Amino acid sequence: MAYAKSSWKDKPRGLFSELKEVLTRMCSGNARCVYCEDSLAYEIEHMRPKDLFPEVCYAWSNYVLACGPCNGPKNNKFAVLVEPLKRVDITRKPNAAVVPPERGRPALLDPRVDDPLDFLWLDFRTFRYVPNTDDDMSEVWLRADYTIDVLGLNKRDALVRGRRSAFSGFNARLSAWINQQHQLTAVERQVFIEDFRNERYRGVWERMKRYNNELPLLAKSAELIKAAPEALQW
Ligand SMILES: [Zn+2]
Repeated sequence: MAYAKSSWKDKPRGLFSELKEVLTRMCSGNARCVYCEDSLAYEIEHMRPKDLFPEVCYAWSNYVLACGPCNGPKNNKFAVLVEPLKRVDITRKPNAAVVPPERGRPALLDPRVDDPLDFLWLDFRTFRYVPNTDDDMSEVWLRADYTIDVLGLNKRDALVRGRRSAFSGFNARLSAWINQQHQLTAVERQVFIEDFRNERYRGVWERMKRYNNELPLLAKSAELIKAAPEALQW
């Protein structure tokens, strides 16, 4: 384990930048952190911590690009789901014996595999995330609750405010598109759409697209999307 950790520190630089380039393409919007969608993603995050799972220290499937404020507090924390269904925190306590962790499915959502919309419901009044189910014994609830907590997705006020302003920002951009698109050149239209896609908090927009016809809080967005249905592809 100590070897995996120290060899990670000494990894070849060339390989490292190539890896970062590929991971950046998986990021939200304009190279934003896969977890919070706010800050620039600049740290390679090992979803399964190096300390607990040295065998996947170099496994490509274990990497995502995250920001410091997400990667830092998450650090070595990890929990798994075991049968009969319950969540077990397997974070190694300081000075605890180094023994293989209990096996199970990761509780933390994996942005490479899991669709966050299946797990995290966005409350459009508070702009906080809540599990996408009321059944607190279910796998969806256990994983959503863990992810919200360990990444501090609701505890960090800047993220909550960021989602709120992203929401009004997406509406404002849609409205600008509807009013101005006919005056734009083909290139300007392309730039507009690219900028829209690069916006932070893409998850807010994904939810606006999915729920605009169902939620009264999204009535204005529903009207705008109706006037510019092409935005559903953005
Ligand atoms: Zn982040």
